[in-house]
Amino acid sequence: MRIANVSGRLTLVSEQGGIDVATESASRFGPDPQAVYGQWETFREWADGAPPQGAAVIDTKQLGPPAPRPAQVFAIGMNYRDHAAEAGLAVPASPATFTKFPTCLTAPFADVVLPSEVVDWEVELVVVIGVRAQHVSPSSAWDHVAGVTVGQDLSERVVQFSSGGQFSLGKSFPGFGPTGPWLVTPDELADPDDLELGCRVDDCDVQKSRTSEMVFGVPELIARLSAVLPLLPGDLIFTGTPAGIGATRQPPQFLRPGQVLSSYVEGVGTMASHLVAPPA
Ligand code: ZN
Repeated sequence: MRIANVSGRLTLVSEQGGIDVATESASRFGPDPQAVYGQWETFREWADGAPPQGAAVIDTKQLGPPAPRPAQVFAIGMNYRDHAAEAGLAVPASPATFTKFPTCLTAPFADVVLPSEVVDWEVELVVVIGVRAQHVSPSSAWDHVAGVTVGQDLSERVVQFSSGGQFSLGKSFPGFGPTGPWLVTPDELADPDDLELGCRVDDCDVQKSRTSEMVFGVPELIARLSAVLPLLPGDLIFTGTPAGIGATRQPPQFLRPGQVLSSYVEGVGTMASHLVAPPA
């Protein structure tokens, strides 16, 4: 199953197009895309049983984040060995966890304002929690996941490294968390632990890897985070980025106004962020 946020309304995505959930379910489920995660198991039963009618063409410009207002957003640093190596940092013994404050979330095809000349890309698989997870074992971790989507952990590298070692502010400017184009449930994926992901800046491929290369895979991340605190329905986990960021290139390379940053995860989809200069 795929669900999208279309103009702020929860929408089932089918081969034919989008089906408005509130309309199709006679308001059993409301239009708010965030609210559905609080009723995830009931919603899945309904969605699996109700062959949808009345599909409408989805305009990508209408798409919003599949989980627009999560209570918590976790992000994991140094979670691919090749990325830790390019950054000259050790692979941590436990997930290097920071947050992206939720106001940074934006639509998958949005314009993103570059606040400086040192904004970098980080394509990531993003997990959306569907069932409250606390003290969950790796073997049951996927049962607590609503689905996955594509994300960019956009990063202002000066602010990131000038805040006492705390990454969160430098990764939370408005627009620094594009997600989308929709949420895909794990059962749609041949192997949810082994998905190709990558991104390109205009016509130049800059990152390409597989999620099977993660230091802590999705089950391990959910187990380790939920050993400390509960993961709530609708929460996001940005699971880390592979090698190929701009900051460690020789010379360093950063995003420029006018460029398009395209990011994909195999079996999920592609989003395209349009980078723009701040208003004069
Ligand atoms: Zn990241």
